[in-house]
Amino acid sequence: MKKLWPVLFLLLAACKQKEYNADLLVKNALVYTVDSTFTTANAFVVSSGKILAVGNIDTLEKQYLAREVIDAGGKAVYPGFIDAHAHFYEYGLGLQDVKLVGTKSWDAVLDSVSSYSRHKTDGWIIGNGWDQNIWANKAFPNKAKLDSLFPVRPVLLSRVDGHAAIANQAALNIAGIKPGQKITGGEIETVNGKLTGILVDNAVGIVTRKIPAPTEQITQAALLDAQRNCFAVGLTTVDDCGLPYTMVNTIAALQHKGDLKMRMYVMLADQQENYDYLFKRGAYKTPGLNVRAFKVYADGALGSRGACLLHPYSDQKNWSGFLLSSKAHFEEVAKKIAAHGFQMCTHAIGDSANRVMLKIYAENLKGKNNKRWRIEHAQIVSPQDVKLFGDNNIIPSVQPTHATSDMVWAAKRLGAERLKTGYAYKDLMKQNGWIPLGTDFPVENINPMYTFYAATERRDLKGSPDGGFQMENALSRTEALRGMTVWAAKANFEEHEKGSIEVGKYADFVILDQDIMKVKGSELPNVKVLKTYINGVKVYEKK
Ligand SMILES: [Zn+2]
Repeated sequence: MKKLWPVLFLLLAACKQKEYNADLLVKNALVYTVDSTFTTANAFVVSSGKILAVGNIDTLEKQYLAREVIDAGGKAVYPGFIDAHAHFYEYGLGLQDVKLVGTKSWDAVLDSVSSYSRHKTDGWIIGNGWDQNIWANKAFPNKAKLDSLFPVRPVLLSRVDGHAAIANQAALNIAGIKPGQKITGGEIETVNGKLTGILVDNAVGIVTRKIPAPTEQITQAALLDAQRNCFAVGLTTVDDCGLPYTMVNTIAALQHKGDLKMRMYVMLADQQENYDYLFKRGAYKTPGLNVRAFKVYADGALGSRGACLLHPYSDQKNWSGFLLSSKAHFEEVAKKIAAHGFQMCTHAIGDSANRVMLKIYAENLKGKNNKRWRIEHAQIVSPQDVKLFGDNNIIPSVQPTHATSDMVWAAKRLGAERLKTGYAYKDLMKQNGWIPLGTDFPVENINPMYTFYAATERRDLKGSPDGGFQMENALSRTEALRGMTVWAAKANFEEHEKGSIEVGKYADFVILDQDIMKVKGSELPNVKVLKTYINGVKVYEKK
């Protein structure tokens, strides 16, 4: 035993020499810190999940001894991406449904549904993603063939924007929908006294309310499936827009267990029980979950002509769309959200919906303020209303891929002149000097690279149009990157904890295979995430 002492002493001495004072050192990187002056660095240090130091490798290596060292091989490193407007949970649930995005015809939709029904052999058939705008005839489908294929099983297939759906007769029966039935804020299409199965906006809800609620197991699987795909594209925070309060506990429990690592900013839906919950409880805030906002719908979407316009649609006479609730409802909601000090986030697509909401916001915000009330989408805004954003510090929260998805048909809905007032991200950005970016996934793809490309190049994945769509409203690459990181954080009141690689912030970052600040514009959609980190811990690595 005695003989062991010198060995032990040496071991202790060796340990003492190796006194770690950091968890992680990232070196040989081109680090875009996205701080206020857009500084770059070649290394940074992480301790206890947060950024401890950023700077030059020679200095940092002298000061810090980290347990783990990542040699980035000269690759570019960015703050983890934030999607300021998404439907994360719904996307996860959708992963379990029939995927109809990109189907080229109604018959192709029916084929997909039929083959899905052979795998999932009972219960409701739920599908999403069809878009008649990419079909040859561009007309809404009719349920006749769906009824003959599925006379008993209820089927509900949502349009890509989620604002319209087609249901078969079995589903309509369960929902008790009758030909000619009217509903405010929606439409039940009836032709020659017969239901076509097409339901628009609030009418869709009559059917969806009859779908049995997902079990706790399905709910958890949906969140984890969504997380897996989102980590692979570099997302480290998502804003989930319009959840019921009951999801708060599910998310919190899953995060507490360590299974759900995705950080979430949750907006609760415009429903009395959600107001009751949050007003009584107060804001909910942990490092992974922030609940302090409400999501309200002013109108529908442009594709299904549900967006509320000041003047009629160019391709439908005497039709201007509609508000989803009365103005009085929006006024009342705004007043109570203001009184309780929460954030209001309103979906507004059409120029009329935007005007209504901007005015209601202005009455409550009364000029310059730091309440960060948001207009989600702000898609078509009358030039005379744009300044209301700046005057009242209202945040336009926009989705650049909507511009490049809609541009092929939006002119038909709006006409050339009105189209110029749409998707005006640069003009909107100038109002407050910053703008958060998102995707509205699953309406669009989850990939932030597509957002970056659409915002800066204003072209679709096929590269059209040449020279970009309404380029006066393109963002610079610096602006687009800020929009996906620190400005998105700011829209969530989280710019002091995330959104840039700066001392004291969470060590959420991504390593990309190419430098998006330098690569050719047409290359941007092909840029891949090599690794994604949350709290300095790897959550994704490209195989
Ligand atoms: Zn949305």
